[in-house]
Amino acid sequence: MSAEFQALLRGPRAYDLARKALEVMEGHHVWPTVRNFELWVCYVSESTSPLALEIDRLLAAGEPITETLGEALAAQFMPDARINGGILEAGDALSKELHTVTRAIESAQKSSETYGQELATASERLSGDDAQLKAVVADLTTATQKVQADNRLLETQLADTRGELGRLRESLDQVRRDAMTDGLTNLTNRKAFDESLAAMCEDAEAAGETVTLAMLDIDHFKGFNDTWGHQIGDQVLRYVASVIGRLGVTPRLAARYGGEEFAVIFPSESGRIALGVLEEIRIEISSRSLKRRSTNEDLGAVTVSAGYAERLSGESASSLVERADAALYASKHAGRNRTTAAQPLAVVAAA
Ligand code: GH3
Ligand code: MG
Ligand code: MG
Repeated sequence: MSAEFQALLRGPRAYDLARKALEVMEGHHVWPTVRNFELWVCYVSESTSPLALEIDRLLAAGEPITETLGEALAAQFMPDARINGGILEAGDALSKELHTVTRAIESAQKSSETYGQELATASERLSGDDAQLKAVVADLTTATQKVQADNRLLETQLADTRGELGRLRESLDQVRRDAMTDGLTNLTNRKAFDESLAAMCEDAEAAGETVTLAMLDIDHFKGFNDTWGHQIGDQVLRYVASVIGRLGVTPRLAARYGGEEFAVIFPSESGRIALGVLEEIRIEISSRSLKRRSTNEDLGAVTVSAGYAERLSGESASSLVERADAALYASKHAGRNRTTAAQPLAVVAAA
């Protein structure tokens, strides 16, 4: 559960909100599962949140709130819940596996202790006649066989556990990748971008290297959405992201910064190199006439404006973003579909 949700349910409006949520859920024939409850408490707690607006839109359109729709809403608007759920599930499975390994190891230890005791007793008895010797050998053989059988069992259990741990690691990696990725464009999301930029600025400072940050924004995108609809708008977002992503490959980092805004970090690369890449992106996007897939209808071309800033020694990540953003704004102001270099810090500060 998200931190905000936890706080809501411990605040002064908790019972009111819970009652109201249940009432609304019942009214819309939504089952009171934990996830649905979280969704609807959030809905009733803030009428202008993106989640509430989307639910209102769906209700106004007469859409039934099905389980699948509830899941999609939770995944879109409450990513924390989804991620935490994934990690918890993986964690539970991991601890179960570790428990199995521990039990197998304990059992192997007991067997080897018994084996040791038997060997000790046997050696005491070795001084006797042939029959005794035979019995000793027989005991040793049985004990050895038992240890061998236990070892084989342990081996199989460990192999199974290794397989299961491998699968768990994969699912944790997937959860981690999902948590860092923007669902629509598959680029790095804003949260991961913020973390990477801070880390890359620190690295650049420590190594005395440069790092350049670029911000890009689709021009007149609101008009495009209004003309062609949100779904085609989404396809255009994906297209623009694919061009940015193709040129912003590792060690560069391409991210969706916000709605129709993107960012690219160029570690150890100068503004001059970034300018070349940004111009390549801008020209490629503006020169392609887009078509509506279903009908082949001509949608025209979209353009992007860009701004970039090369980090100055000692400059913080937020100041770098501010300067790149100001450069992007200058591109917009100068007529869009262009790339502008940031002003040095002193000029921004004086402005
Ligand atoms: P400008 O050239 O000044 O950037 O104009 P603009 O219309 O692109 O900028 P504005 O900020 O006014 O509008 C941005 C629009 O982007 C508004 C919103 O409808 C759209 N948008 C934001 N996120 C999404 C999204 O995920 N999908 C779609 N289809 N549209 C989005
Ligand atoms: Mg825009
Ligand atoms: Mg914008």
